[in-house]
Amino acid sequence: MVQAFNMYLPYRNRLYSGATFPCFNVDFFNSIAVIKPLKLNINRENAEIDILTHCLVFTDASKQGERVGFGVYIPKINYKFSAKLHKEMCIATAETIAIKEGLRVALQRAFTKVIILSDSLSEISKIANGNSNTKMDYIMLQVREMMAKSMGVAIRMAWIPGHSGIEGNEKVDSLAKIGKDLNIRLNIKLDIHDVRNTILRDITNVIRERWKNPIQDKGKRYRKLIQRNFPNRRWFSELAYIDRRHITTIIRMRTGHCAAGEHLARIGVRDSPFCECGGVENLNHIFFECLITKVPGGDLYVNFRSFGLNLPLCVENMLSTPSAEIIQMVICFLDYNRIKL
Ligand SMILES: [Zn+2]
Repeated sequence: MVQAFNMYLPYRNRLYSGATFPCFNVDFFNSIAVIKPLKLNINRENAEIDILTHCLVFTDASKQGERVGFGVYIPKINYKFSAKLHKEMCIATAETIAIKEGLRVALQRAFTKVIILSDSLSEISKIANGNSNTKMDYIMLQVREMMAKSMGVAIRMAWIPGHSGIEGNEKVDSLAKIGKDLNIRLNIKLDIHDVRNTILRDITNVIRERWKNPIQDKGKRYRKLIQRNFPNRRWFSELAYIDRRHITTIIRMRTGHCAAGEHLARIGVRDSPFCECGGVENLNHIFFECLITKVPGGDLYVNFRSFGLNLPLCVENMLSTPSAEIIQMVICFLDYNRIKL
């Protein structure tokens, strides 16, 4: 835990920090009130409001690898702004910063009717709803506070589709791209979520590297034959409807720590590693070689092949990425032969 805490140290000076949680820095009502986004069709007559009487503020962000930037474009005053952000910032944070910056300029120039336009639907909804798991999102909360405190200014937010030929959006898109390639970064404090995600990604990369080039030879069979790449999620996370006991059996088979003769003899539970048929009793023997075990309902080879299992047919291929059908068949085979692994 101390080691993990130390990973935050390099970000210490760039990280947003305050005496209280960000949500306590803003008025409670301002932090939860729903701001209804404007439904806008910029190319046609708009029934809800006349957009020509409003100051349109186009905002956009861009991220490519470690380069992050944003742009603001206000056609009424021909305001164009590009900036580079810290590389740890995710695209969502950059979009919110763009909205905040656009809003700040519009308020500073004393416009009384403002529409913020962004092609990021998720950021608009996040700012609009305010309360969805974002109590720590200090930039989003600042935007809401600015909106609430701008007395006498009608501010609306609207989503516009990206890359669909809307002139203002095309312009702000290129401003954001220019921003990410600038040399100097704008020193906007990092949000804790962005730092946490960066650290998690770094840790995962280190684990992936060790998975491929381990310091010790331990777990070689598992790494080389069963779980060839370090996964983002557990292999069974997609298999929500499979009986957990069956998953447990498959896990034991995958790690090789199951009740097959060879393993039991190795750990001293049984005297001999041999099967009754005379072969060494390991998983490949049980499934594909043994003369005693029987296959319920036809041919194991034909069945496995019909599920697209790669050749050669072996336990390692069978268990590396087992589908629900394969697990079903494995369990059925074990039950039929009364084998407990
Ligand atoms: Zn046998």
